[in-house]
Amino acid sequence: MSGIGEAVGAFGTLKSAYELVQELRKSNDPKTLKAGIEQLSDRLLSARAEGFKALEDYKVAVDRADAAEAKLRAAVTFDEQAKNYVRHRCYPGVFVYREKTPAAGEAAPPNYCAHCFGEKKLEILQVTGSIALANKEHTCPRCKSKALFQVSP
Ligand SMILES: [Zn+2]
Repeated sequence: MSGIGEAVGAFGTLKSAYELVQELRKSNDPKTLKAGIEQLSDRLLSARAEGFKALEDYKVAVDRADAAEAKLRAAVTFDEQAKNYVRHRCYPGVFVYREKTPAAGEAAPPNYCAHCFGEKKLEILQVTGSIALANKEHTCPRCKSKALFQVSP
């Protein structure tokens, strides 16, 4: 049941407990009063349990809303940052992303994983090639995608 449903259920149980009290006030019979008190106790315990469940559901809903908001904020932030990068072909059919204006004095600007860029993540590719592939093979530490670079001799 949803948090609202639980809350409505708790309210309904409290209302029926109130109605039970109104009935019990009219009675002087000890057996009726004792049975009524037991029923009242059960209804109050139910209302309490429904109230706690509604609170738990509310907390879960708030956490989900917070997570969704954080995800949206990160996506908007990435879209703003993405304007500073440009796609670069490093090998026929192989692309990476690079900063449009690399930092001054930087000999080799970092290459960013195109796969992760598509998932709104900036991951710098790392050189992982064997000696034969030295400086040619780069790997993304996040998604393990490989990118081959043409290195001029
Ligand atoms: Zn990647």
